[in-house]
Amino acid sequence: MGLEIENVSKSYGSNLVLDAVNLDVAPGEFVALLGPSGSGKTTLLRIIAGLQFADSGRLLMEGEDITGLEARLRRFGMVFQSYALFEHMSVADNTAFGLKMRPRGRRPSRSEIGERVKTLLDMAEIGHLADRYPSQLSGGQRQRVALARALAIEPRLLLLDEPFSALDTKIRKGLRTALRDLQKRVGISAILVTHDQEEAFEIADRIAVMSEGRIEQFGTAEELVRSPASPFVSEFLEGMANYENQGAGI
Ligand code: ADP
Repeated sequence: MGLEIENVSKSYGSNLVLDAVNLDVAPGEFVALLGPSGSGKTTLLRIIAGLQFADSGRLLMEGEDITGLEARLRRFGMVFQSYALFEHMSVADNTAFGLKMRPRGRRPSRSEIGERVKTLLDMAEIGHLADRYPSQLSGGQRQRVALARALAIEPRLLLLDEPFSALDTKIRKGLRTALRDLQKRVGISAILVTHDQEEAFEIADRIAVMSEGRIEQFGTAEELVRSPASPFVSEFLEGMANYENQGAGI
């Protein structure tokens, strides 16, 4: 079950951006879409999110056909590079926002919302920042809030588009670990778009290597390094064998 992507194609004019892409994400699995700029990663993620629609192909979530379903009905959590937090709301209120916006009847009680927000902020290691405002936070802390907020609605899937690329290396490393821990603890499936081989190797259970609108290979970091399916994969992952040997992340 989980998410199944079947033969998804997308063109912009005569530019074929996704060419019959197939991909499956198992329940609780973390998948990275890894590839150079222009390979179609963001387009694929936006189609999964329902922010764009494919020209052909199908998307199934837990067996339900969601191909034509609009974004807000998919119940997916999203974190992007430019974190749009509400500047006039505290960290706790930012995190609670999606829950408070629910129609009566589906809205948890105030105390349930408070509990859930507290748990998530603690899990994201920002419990002590609950009463602060976004302008008082560092870039890394803001992304932790964005992550907690995305998870607050108990989404069926977490989608991340280069969420840490604006941050510097050291902060990025800490956030990768936090993200992976959080995803495993919550038990949600996640898809991360990245052009950074190290990031994909460190976070993902399986990696889809993309080039020119196609998935060149889909497998674990170990499989990709040991038996690359094409010269492209082999070249794109050059140097990553050493990374494996250092025992980091695999
Ligand atoms: P990546 O995320 O791997 O960098 P993208 O999915 O952003 O790749 O882009 C894939 C290709 O689609 C690129 O050639 C890009 O120029 C093109 N593209 C993306 N969005 C649009 C758009 N809205 N209109 C026209 N072309 C687009």
